[in-house]
Amino acid sequence: MLLFGTIYLIMGVQGQYLFDVEALRADFPILDRRVGGDPETAGEGEGDDTPLVYLDNAATSHTPDPVVDAISDYYRSYNANVHRGIHQLSQEASVAYEEAHDAVADFVGAAGREEVVFTKNTTEAMNLVAYAWGLEELGPGDNVVLSEMEHHASLVTWQQIGKRTGADVRFIDVTDEGRLDTDHAAELIDDDTEMVSLVHVSNTLGTVNPIGQLADLAHDRDALIFADAAQSVPTRPVDVEDLGVDFLAFSGHKMCGPTGIGVLYGREELLDEMQPYLYGGDMIRRVSFEDSTWEDLPWKFEAGTPSIAQGVGLAAAIEYLEEVGMDRIQAHEDMLAEYAYDELAALGGVDIYGPPGDDRGGLVAFNVDGVHAHDLSSILNDYGVAIRAGDHCTQPLHDEMGVAASARASFYVYNTVEEVDALIDAVREARDLFA
Ligand code: PLP
Repeated sequence: MLLFGTIYLIMGVQGQYLFDVEALRADFPILDRRVGGDPETAGEGEGDDTPLVYLDNAATSHTPDPVVDAISDYYRSYNANVHRGIHQLSQEASVAYEEAHDAVADFVGAAGREEVVFTKNTTEAMNLVAYAWGLEELGPGDNVVLSEMEHHASLVTWQQIGKRTGADVRFIDVTDEGRLDTDHAAELIDDDTEMVSLVHVSNTLGTVNPIGQLADLAHDRDALIFADAAQSVPTRPVDVEDLGVDFLAFSGHKMCGPTGIGVLYGREELLDEMQPYLYGGDMIRRVSFEDSTWEDLPWKFEAGTPSIAQGVGLAAAIEYLEEVGMDRIQAHEDMLAEYAYDELAALGGVDIYGPPGDDRGGLVAFNVDGVHAHDLSSILNDYGVAIRAGDHCTQPLHDEMGVAASARASFYVYNTVEEVDALIDAVREARDLFA
């Protein structure tokens, strides 16, 4: 595997990939865009003369034509509300929407659609568990264990649930190299721990956390474990059984799918025991003036008209990614991230965050000496290079790193070695400009 990885790295840097990246790019017309014009005239091309190099995929990825077509086909051919009508369009929409749950279940190794709840995004999936499970189960004396590298979606949510229930919220240290301190984790997780909530791949450090090991630690103490898989499910094979997690969440818009759809995976027996998070239509079985009973899983957690087109789009995105192959997507990402890391390090005057080597996700966060990340991002934008600058929703982690903000380049299935070169050239220009 290592040998294969090394050969691949060399081949990759020479412009030969494990799959036909150029052909794949043709599915994403947005990648042919030029930028540089006035944002007020978005998409009209006025003043747009610089080729786009899109390296902000950890925030949102692009949507290939087959996914756009699936969404458009839904609206053109069988748009109707689900689970309500006896008429044909409603039945067709219901089948497609339900089958989208099956596709997700298959994709992440869940037992079936009962374990797959569609939400708006990862954030809502976390709030669902925090409210529906946390408010019921947590109290003074209990604790929830997170890490210092959690996204605000997890950190703020559990912090606020902790305040409301009196449960203690603890944070596993991150080492100077940007890895989870597993010895500290073993100290923090104790008999009063009820939940361990951890990011699988850090959206700032790129660290790939040993979720399986932490799942064992949690389960040894009868605690549950929740994996924030917003950056891992889009970029590598993820299997909930192999990881040993009780809950897992991710977002469609980071994996070639549309915005407005996210997924909560939960073990069936846990979801069964939990009370609904939102109440209303579609999630009930029987309602009287006095009381109500709930639909079967997963519908019990999907109140009101759901994101039907987005669910259909997510299923199409999964089909698209599976055709490329999640192993190959991971290898491609690893290659680009490692190449970017090495080239940034070679520039000089650049601080890079997170572990070195190929043991990281497909993103690199960094700072250039003497250049604020926002200024850097703005200069890169002049070169058509789209990256993210800020705290990436990990403010406390940035406090620990001793910086207010960082720049982050993140890669996906359609990015090329030449685009990494364009990033490096633009960073060099910015560094020299400020020097
Ligand atoms: N968790 C991680 C690790 C993320 O990177 C993100 C988004 O960047 C989220 C959670 C939140 O995702 P969303 O905004 O789709 O809810």
